[in-house]
Amino acid sequence: MANSKVAIVTGGNKGIGLAIVRALCKQFDGDVFLTARNDERGKEAVKLIESEGLKVKYHQLVIDDKKSIQQIQTFMTETYNGIDVLVNNAAIALKMKDTTPFGEQAKVTLAANFFGTLDVLRMLLPTIKPNGRVVNVSSMAGASALGKCSAELQQVFRSDSITEKQLCERMEEFIKYAQKGTHTEHGYPNTAYGVSKIGVTVLTIIQARQLQKQEKNTILVNCCCRGWVCTDMAGAKAPKTPDQVAETPVFLAMLPPGTTEPNGKFLFDKTVRPW
Ligand code: NAP
Repeated sequence: MANSKVAIVTGGNKGIGLAIVRALCKQFDGDVFLTARNDERGKEAVKLIESEGLKVKYHQLVIDDKKSIQQIQTFMTETYNGIDVLVNNAAIALKMKDTTPFGEQAKVTLAANFFGTLDVLRMLLPTIKPNGRVVNVSSMAGASALGKCSAELQQVFRSDSITEKQLCERMEEFIKYAQKGTHTEHGYPNTAYGVSKIGVTVLTIIQARQLQKQEKNTILVNCCCRGWVCTDMAGAKAPKTPDQVAETPVFLAMLPPGTTEPNGKFLFDKTVRPW
């Protein structure tokens, strides 16, 4: 069993995930795992990080494949007796010009961004060690989509008592209505990516609240965004670089032992934003 601490970043082979891996390799006192859904792309990214003189480790992780999550869970438990830092960064965003029917867009986007992240959290959260940090990369697109929801839905997504089960039911409901083309009639906004990120932010709040109920909890769960970033997802016109935006998730991942706040919060540029 390794004595070192360990950090995992999902979707670490490019974009913001790769920048988070790079920053953690420089700042985190322990082993940093770049994970990727595709081994070839993952190992290419490892080579790049190593060419910068940094040490990094690799494990495959496909967030919408429970078997893959189980494999990394077993590996981390057997090798490190758990996980110190988990950064849920992996996500997809279909392009604006994508002609896939909206119902299908809703299904695939939520399958990866919300239900995939949920499965990672369900399976890896129990292995997070004391003083562990969980960072979910959400998006301002979620906050903006929340503003476009009906008043009733806004109340649901802002409720202090919403449960994980109720949140999942709402995400399933969105997909069902999107497939019928009636999601806007039922108060949902016309953005699958935005709804998936509402899900990620509300999930963060729920899981932090659940952990807080446990006696002597020292694990912090937060989510963040830092605007429009130049990656394959957002395109070349975006003004910020992945390395600039990695600062906020890395700040959350490195909150020192004994810190109690922020917890269950959405941060933009290291600052807590109201939800
Ligand atoms: P990106 O360049 O498209 O990178 C996304 C990463 O997620 C890739 O490594 C991708 O792997 C991985 N991924 C996708 N589906 C996966 C799955 N099922 N299992 C495992 N890995 C998966 O996007 P990015 O811009 O860096 O975005 C990173 C995060 O920041 C996302 O959560 C995104 O929503 C958020 N964000 C981005 C912006 C922005 O302006 N870019 C703004 C706000 C929030 P492959 O290479 O194999 O596809």
